[in-house]
Amino acid sequence: MARYAMVFDTRRCIGCHSCTVACRTKNELPLDMIYNPVTTVGPAGVYPNLSMVHMPLICMHCENPPCVDACPTCASQRRDDGIVFVEDKKCVGCLACVMACPYGARVKNHETGAVQKCDFCKDRVDEGKLPHCVLTCHQKARVFGDLDDETSEVYKLVNGERTVRLLAELGTEPYAFYIYG
Ligand code: SF4
Ligand code: SF4
Repeated sequence: MARYAMVFDTRRCIGCHSCTVACRTKNELPLDMIYNPVTTVGPAGVYPNLSMVHMPLICMHCENPPCVDACPTCASQRRDDGIVFVEDKKCVGCLACVMACPYGARVKNHETGAVQKCDFCKDRVDEGKLPHCVLTCHQKARVFGDLDDETSEVYKLVNGERTVRLLAELGTEPYAFYIYG
């Protein structure tokens, strides 16, 4: 069984938001919804020594997901391969998962009434394809793959580069990793 993860190389991201647009298009999201924002930190420093970091943010596909524990209808689920997703027709829109998620990864779709979020494009992954944001990123700032496959690029990056996980101290064990400069 695979164990899917995504690595974000912030050294490569230029903050173009192509991934945000690709995600919205693929998931046919209303204009007031995104799963996949890119935030910009900076510029910091004093001219000419300025720096700026672009941070893509998605659902972290936590190994210990508080959103799944909080869901009263089992609409929020985690697959054996680590992908956390919402089964729309079971969601009653109570927002318990939105409040439980420490990453702000979930948003209610006001057209359907269901809470939704990034699901690593599981329909594409099940067909052996990459998530749409990864395919779209011309900077190769996003890498997706199986952490249990020692030949995969994600395995090599997570085990070879200095990666960090957001809010790791909470014990959620996120499967999104960041490389900084
Ligand atoms: S498409 Fe790639 S380079 Fe552009 S904002 Fe997204 S992650 Fe960054
Ligand atoms: S980031 Fe939030 S929505 Fe995603 S698995 Fe973790 S707790 Fe759940």
